[in-house]
Amino acid sequence: MDKKLTDCFNPVRYSFNYSKKNPKYLYRINYTIPMKNKFLKLSLALVMPLIASAKTDWTPTFKDAPVTKEEVKVIAAAMPTSPIVKPKAKRKVLIYSATAGFRHKSIPYGKIALRLMGKKTGAFETVISDNPANFEPAALEKFDAVILLNTTQDFFMPSSKTQRDEFSDKEWAALQKRNDRLVDNLVDYVTNGGGLAGIHAATDSCYNHKEYGDTIGGYFWGHPWTAKTNVTIVVEDPEHKIIKPVFEGMKDFRLQEEIYQFQEEPYSRDRLRVLLHLDPDRSDKVDPEKVKRTDGDFAVAWVQKVGKGRVFYTSIGHNNHIFSNPLMLKHYLAGIQFAMGDLKADTTPSSKRK
Ligand SMILES: [Zn+2]
Repeated sequence: MDKKLTDCFNPVRYSFNYSKKNPKYLYRINYTIPMKNKFLKLSLALVMPLIASAKTDWTPTFKDAPVTKEEVKVIAAAMPTSPIVKPKAKRKVLIYSATAGFRHKSIPYGKIALRLMGKKTGAFETVISDNPANFEPAALEKFDAVILLNTTQDFFMPSSKTQRDEFSDKEWAALQKRNDRLVDNLVDYVTNGGGLAGIHAATDSCYNHKEYGDTIGGYFWGHPWTAKTNVTIVVEDPEHKIIKPVFEGMKDFRLQEEIYQFQEEPYSRDRLRVLLHLDPDRSDKVDPEKVKRTDGDFAVAWVQKVGKGRVFYTSIGHNNHIFSNPLMLKHYLAGIQFAMGDLKADTTPSSKRK
């Protein structure tokens, strides 16, 4: 950068409109450029509104560690080769995994696994994208289901902890407004007959959006069982249409995985059909202070009907190896086929089961 240009971008020298809180506002600094450099001023006047609008159209991007070829082979070898049920039509799912909080290392494994799952089983075609524009109503309508793969916090927003300073108050407010609108769009999409499949941290998302919590079925409340613990998961509803084809003849199974507990609200067996739960007595011992639920109800997977739509959620999906575990891949496939409307299954809440 030549000297003149560097000076123009030096907020200390041209500082009458300089915001200390947001030193990265190039377009604000624009107003401080001396009149004499007309060419530069004109160029910036043309470019700066684009930068400003780019900020309110902000799209999440992430740099995840790549999955090795060998790891892809392992995932492919574990993949089911046929769908649980024959799809009724050509199906398309959106895989969204943007994070405004903790970012799981398993996300790229999940993306590869779900893409391969669609291909190998023929159950669905995948669109893997973190572009929030996919959550505009006309775009959502093209998908048979949305899969939230380890999203965290307000997943259409930049991180309020690490990225807040890159935006002005006005831009941040505009992004928040967009976030609220897109979460509403997602809830409306499900209510009007769409499908939603949530994996692991999908319940560690959108805490300020009650309708989202009701739709996904619960909010994260810590994970007393950490990533290295060995747990026993009970097949609670063995005859259920989502469970039987996957866990046939199994009363329970063992897994090394981080297991969530859910906040008292909105999680409820009066609304959800719980399919799997953790047995704390047959799982590694954990710090008792971290166990907040007093009823011993540690649900792991459920389904529910929301309006005309279908929601499947499983809290399994923290560790990378989950995405190359044949049983877990089949568990996801059944849940996704339910969410898309191909696998018909009972959503009568657990407490109302006969
Ligand atoms: Zn996790």
